[in-house]
Amino acid sequence: MIGEKTERISRCRALVTGAGGFIGHHLIKYLKDKGYWVRGVDIVTSKFEATTADEFEFLDLRRWANCLQAARGIDEVYHLAANMGGIGFITNVKAQVMHDNVLINAHMLEAARLHQVKRFFFSSSACVYPTYKQVRPDITGLKESDVYPAQPDNEYGWEKLFTERLCLDYYQEHGLETRIARFHNIYGPLGAWRGGREKSPAAICRKVAEAEDGGFIEIWGDGKQTRSYCYIDDCLEGIFALTQCNIREPLNIGSDRMVTISELADMVMKIAGKRLTKNYDLTKPQGVRGRNSDNSRVKKLLGWEAKVSLEEGLARTYRWIALQLKKHRQPAQGPDHMDSAPRWTEETLETVYPHRRT
Ligand code: NAD
Repeated sequence: MIGEKTERISRCRALVTGAGGFIGHHLIKYLKDKGYWVRGVDIVTSKFEATTADEFEFLDLRRWANCLQAARGIDEVYHLAANMGGIGFITNVKAQVMHDNVLINAHMLEAARLHQVKRFFFSSSACVYPTYKQVRPDITGLKESDVYPAQPDNEYGWEKLFTERLCLDYYQEHGLETRIARFHNIYGPLGAWRGGREKSPAAICRKVAEAEDGGFIEIWGDGKQTRSYCYIDDCLEGIFALTQCNIREPLNIGSDRMVTISELADMVMKIAGKRLTKNYDLTKPQGVRGRNSDNSRVKKLLGWEAKVSLEEGLARTYRWIALQLKKHRQPAQGPDHMDSAPRWTEETLETVYPHRRT
């Protein structure tokens, strides 16, 4: 029985989009360990480590022809490519986020359908949940059913919600087996840690690593806003379990341990062995006031739950970021990652859409 399963997986051909990004890069390693043949696709490679993909193609997935090329001969698509970033990025960059991601997602679903892909995993986000459910720091965890009536806090969340619906439509109309995870703040080594695209755990680790003991760090907002954080290893287990199961409705993949941003900073300072003053900058974006993940459904249906403690995950992340900082020997100096997704400058819409006529 186990032999049969291993043989089935070893024959399986997976496509990981967003393969040069944080989760995609880790996922390729995870799938390779399971015996998959893996094609990675992105517009960049990981800045931190060579890919272990069997094949890596540089393809801009906003373009239809590239999505068709990416999905050829593939059994399972793990679709992670997105133009996204931390709260500063998604608060300020709206049209570009909507435009790029709606093209990437719609084209990838259609390409998967045409190539008769067996499974299509889509990485949605906790950002789909409505603002009115997240107005206090001490909120109860968000259940999957809380998503409607819809009122996401930003365009990134609206686009994810749109694509969730598109995934369900592709199953209903075309029988494409889609799976949807709502990630809640995934963190760990080998992710963006400076330049504007980094998330709060990486940003705080970097600030603490940069600061002299006895100095200060800047915290966005009043520090009382709450979040939960899920370590990358747990996330990978969740992605795989969800893709292999028969549940098509969206499921949370997150931790249900909620902390304030200020507490998160205290934990990182403890790991670093530094005493720092926290300066709160109320002019900076802080997103919703409170957010936590209710994992009762994913635990019941998949038996999945986050296992790595926040202390352990942050310690691993801090050590890695401190090492990066040492290597670079310079503090962050503005966007280096922020401009990695090429903008529509030379292209016209005419060059993007002709595929529809072929
Ligand atoms: P990431 O930014 O590290 O990776 C995304 C990758 O997509 C990048 O490498 C980027 O170059 C690539 N990409 C962007 N535009 C592209 C294009 N036009 N063509 C091809 N590739 C393109 O992000 P991540 O943290 O690894 O997130 C992966 C997925 O999970 C994303 O869809 C994201 O929205 C979702 N998600 C992540 C989190 C999190 O906490 N990390 C939370 C919720 C949802």
